[in-house]
Amino acid sequence: MGDVQALKDQVCRRIDAHRDEIIALGEDIRVHPELGFKEFRTAEIVANHFSRLGIPHETGIAVTGVKGMLTGRRSGATVAYLGELDSVLVRGHPDADPTTGAAHACGHNAQIANLIALAYGLVESGVMDALDGNISLMAVPAEEYVEVEYRLGLKRQGTIEFLGGKPEMIRLGAFDDVDMAMMTHQTSRTEPGLLSVGGPSNGCLVKLIRYVGKASHAGGSPHQGVNALKAAMLALQAIDANRETFKDDDHIRVHPIITKGGELVNVIPADVRLETYVRGANVEAIVAAAHKVDRSLKAGALAVGATLELTTLPGYLPRLVHPGLVDVYHENAAALVGADQWWEPSFGAGSTDMGDVSHIMPAIEANAKGCIGTGHGADFMVSDPEMAYLMPAKVAAMTLIDLLVDGAARAQAIKAETTPAMTKEEYLRFMRGLAQDVVWKGDGATV
Ligand SMILES: [Zn+2]
Ligand SMILES: [Zn+2]
Repeated sequence: MGDVQALKDQVCRRIDAHRDEIIALGEDIRVHPELGFKEFRTAEIVANHFSRLGIPHETGIAVTGVKGMLTGRRSGATVAYLGELDSVLVRGHPDADPTTGAAHACGHNAQIANLIALAYGLVESGVMDALDGNISLMAVPAEEYVEVEYRLGLKRQGTIEFLGGKPEMIRLGAFDDVDMAMMTHQTSRTEPGLLSVGGPSNGCLVKLIRYVGKASHAGGSPHQGVNALKAAMLALQAIDANRETFKDDDHIRVHPIITKGGELVNVIPADVRLETYVRGANVEAIVAAAHKVDRSLKAGALAVGATLELTTLPGYLPRLVHPGLVDVYHENAAALVGADQWWEPSFGAGSTDMGDVSHIMPAIEANAKGCIGTGHGADFMVSDPEMAYLMPAKVAAMTLIDLLVDGAARAQAIKAETTPAMTKEEYLRFMRGLAQDVVWKGDGATV
């Protein structure tokens, strides 16, 4: 025990030795936000630090992903620690990129600072020589499921298959030699406490919808047109009509937007587009709700005789939380910041592709304070650099040490007691099975 504590202290000291550099790095990434699958600058920063530390690594995985590997004295287990490279897009944010609108409005810049701080701590302390397992440090692209049209373009080119970074990295085999995974997401929640883990969360499906009608003079000859906007409006009402059938425990969220409502005010809309997610707490509930959404979309087309073009894309799976990993993390969080600084995990109605990882291996997504404001809002910012950029790296290091000391006993016990919800192959088959393109004529014919 004394030895283990000494290892933890040594790693934390090395993280502290780089305090100013790590804070500057987190702040630098904060003001250079990049959207998913375009995080070339941020990925290069990660790769440069890995090179400086002599960490063997691959770059360009799923466009911008970086995977480093630190090997222990034995290979009893391999634990991955992840940091997300991308930002979200919030045009009114003070740090928003004036051209792209990208802004780090949920703190992924801190995740990369955590990842690099952890790398310095683990390498410079020499702790790997005392561990009986490996640690993979991964910078992962495109957690935010945004710019769908752009990513579909990448898909058509064959650059990606899935529209999220971790699903792509799973597909490409980056997790094949990993037994369990963890990461930290910053949070601006206002309740007391400094650290916890994210609870179970919603997964989601993504739908791109186009109604094709018939253009005609809106004043002179509307009777000759087919109004695609009316089809869309009816569909939205039909979706709302289904809400009372959603069970509370399933946490279904359907939140469509109209991205194109027509061309000109004096022309009957012939091309109207919508997007929606269908979120839910479990896969069955998501699929069932998505069926009702599809039915509603068809109802709009049927009513006015429009054609529905419907693209369904796999989103992210619900996040599963491994209790054994939570225990190890909780112990170390309490040791570092105090037992009273922990809050109990609760359900999250958002979605993350860490859910996908959690379906194929034990995983946790820790939550750390240090930020204030509204997540994905213009007022989100880092308020406590020490807490946001450095503290999570220390708890992660301590957790990794506990998992991998003593013959990697705790990591091996977690492996032994866990049957993942899906194998990688089952996961890929399931995700591919969700993807669908349907053209449905308002007269009932499917082509
Ligand atoms: Zn976010
Ligand atoms: Zn995020």
